[in-house]
Amino acid sequence: MAAIDPRERFDAVMIGGGIIGSAVAMGLAERGLRVAIADVDLSGRLSSSEKNAGGVRATWWQPVNVALCRASIAYYESIRDEVGFRQKGYLWLYDEATWPQACAHLEMQRSFGHRIATLTPAEVARRVPEIDRLDAIAGATFSPADGLINPNLLKEHYRARARAAGAQFLDRTLVHAAIVDAGEVRLQCWQAAAPLSDAGLTRLMTEDGPGAAEPGRLFELRASAVAITTGAWSDNAQRIFGLRNYSEAIRRQICLADNRAASFAAYGMIVDTSGVYFHNEGVHILAGYSPPDTPPGHHFTYDGEAFFIDQVWPRMYARMSCCERMRHVTGWAGLYEVSPDRSAIIGRAAPRIFEAHSFSGRGVMQSYGAGQALANLIARGEWGAFDAAALTRERFADNRLVFEELHI
Ligand SMILES: Cc1cc2nc3c(=O)[nH]c(=O)nc-3n(C[C@H](O)[C@H](O)[C@H](O)COP(=O)(O)OP(=O)(O)OC[C@H]3O[C@@H](n4cnc5c(N)ncnc54)[C@H](O)[C@@H]3O)c2cc1C
Repeated sequence: MAAIDPRERFDAVMIGGGIIGSAVAMGLAERGLRVAIADVDLSGRLSSSEKNAGGVRATWWQPVNVALCRASIAYYESIRDEVGFRQKGYLWLYDEATWPQACAHLEMQRSFGHRIATLTPAEVARRVPEIDRLDAIAGATFSPADGLINPNLLKEHYRARARAAGAQFLDRTLVHAAIVDAGEVRLQCWQAAAPLSDAGLTRLMTEDGPGAAEPGRLFELRASAVAITTGAWSDNAQRIFGLRNYSEAIRRQICLADNRAASFAAYGMIVDTSGVYFHNEGVHILAGYSPPDTPPGHHFTYDGEAFFIDQVWPRMYARMSCCERMRHVTGWAGLYEVSPDRSAIIGRAAPRIFEAHSFSGRGVMQSYGAGQALANLIARGEWGAFDAAALTRERFADNRLVFEELHI
């Protein structure tokens, strides 16, 4: 890894090189800025971008979220083979309570050119014959341009383009303090001499400052502008700059299951009235469920087979008898970074300090649009074609919430 010359000054530094930091870095480097990305672990052990379900959709309640997803989908279509983008649609089943809410947003969603069909329960059964128990389904939507993507390929795509445009990625590099003055930001960094152990990484993130237990070096990164793209760790990063944190990290679990009685390969994402969501993933079924009472915190422990048995299987079997003999294979836990209104926080946080975090389960599907939006704001001082002005942090103080209810 090439050492940074202490006299070097970057136009912009991203703190965090997950899918969002990589997308912003690509946007900035391709606008001609000198860019560096500091990440404590670029391999992604702390990163949500490595642990998500790969769902991409534009069926949101808020125009700004629909717009960012539509812009991103258009880009993913242009690189579909490289990033494994499969537009097999989202089939979303609603019960009596949620169906009127879904219908209330259709016109706005369609006004963006997003195709969405409504289905009766009988039409659901015709479209997906595996769904043979229709109880509690009041209606459904099917949006054919939505689908599934390989988030790791997408992140690597952003990184490759950022590197090709001159961006420098600094691995094993924790940003732990900063000095902001009128002319520049001086980020205080600690770089581990060798790849960190899992325990070392956890200590670094949960205790204040660089870990004394593993060898490393302290250095400074100088920049005209900084972007906080630290995902579920944004609380720490905001504290460095004295910024108020609004969001919290919440554990979300996903499992892979084996079901020889049925394949869902012909379909995209299916979301049940119960909240369980699933799609085919290679030879397995990937399924997730987010218990509403999950407490906040940086917990990565996967509950194992108990998660499948208690949360996923009963909901899937209640909807589809073909899931009777479905078996747990493996699974994992990652973190959502959830804001008070479940929309991302994007914009200028303070002089020279920018941010894009708290995507509330939407970071992959909005990454291209959000990356371009913030790159325009940092490089040109305006949103340009990617207007995310509704998502700045001022909305919390001004009570202009951008509330999203339906999210997984
Ligand atoms: C189970 C699950 C399912 C999901 N499903 C979907 C889905 O279907 N579709 C979708 O769009 N989204 C989904 N998401 C959400 C999505 O994964 C996230 O919104 C997205 O990955 C956030 O990306 P990010 O770059 O902001 O954060 P991350 O990927 O978490 O990256 C943040 C990076 O910052 C680094 N970092 C943190 N602090 C510091 C510091 N001080 N110094 C240096 N580096 C630092 C970390 O090492 C990390 O690499 C899901 C998430 C989970 C957990």
